[in-house]
Amino acid sequence: MGQLSLQTVTKSFGTIDVVKGVSLDVVEGEFMVFVGPSGCGKSTLLRMIAGLEHTTAGDIVIDGVRVNDMAPVDRGIAMVFQSYALYPHMTVFENIAFPLRVEGLAEAQVRDKVGAAARILHLEDRLQQKPGNLSGGQRQRVAIGRAIVRAPEIFLFDEPLSNLDAALRADMRIELTRLHKQLGATMIYVTHDQIEAMTMADRIVVLHDGYIAQVGAPLELYHTPQTLFVAGFIGNPR
Ligand code: ADP
Ligand code: MG
Repeated sequence: MGQLSLQTVTKSFGTIDVVKGVSLDVVEGEFMVFVGPSGCGKSTLLRMIAGLEHTTAGDIVIDGVRVNDMAPVDRGIAMVFQSYALYPHMTVFENIAFPLRVEGLAEAQVRDKVGAAARILHLEDRLQQKPGNLSGGQRQRVAIGRAIVRAPEIFLFDEPLSNLDAALRADMRIELTRLHKQLGATMIYVTHDQIEAMTMADRIVVLHDGYIAQVGAPLELYHTPQTLFVAGFIGNPR
């Protein structure tokens, strides 16, 4: 579970083509990183996978099922954004519990699931605090907690660390890698940080102006970039 296939996925806004026939197979449990300059269509692609945006053409297939017309909540996907809007008046517990409350889960189950998520993210002793009392890294962990309580097969991260300072980003990179190993879920991770891409990815997808310039393992892209564009982004500058 957690296999994702994009089949000539296309998105136009009016007459402007933003995603231009992207085809890609993401293996179950893979950590796939999307990189590319601002405006190349990374967020639009993630939003289509999550079901927050319709495709103009092409198919999105999850575990063999075409999900183009499926509601976001039914896709088994959780998305974590850069601006992780936590509810300031709610405790950490209630912020993480929120998606479960929406689903109408019984209180005992909510406690179990929030407790398990808090343990994974080392937030057990923060559960009764408000987000305003937490560090940036802790707040980001709460946002991730809200994603993992629903036990999705696929996680989508849209530049989740870009609001954090460099030291915190380095810590969170390690935490996310640990989380990935622990959960075994498929993760698609958008970043414009080359270090994140090189250290976290099983494979990197380089996007350029709405299409895939190259897909490969980090060292493969680094040593054998196929275009100057890829070389400029990831490649060895020799
Ligand atoms: P990235 O995340 O790679 O920076 P985006 O996917 O956010 O890129 O945006 C890709 C392009 O699509 C940009 O030119 C952006 O202005 C345009 N775009 C994104 N959303 C919309 C929208 N709702 N309406 C019109 N244009 C949009
Ligand atoms: Mg974006």
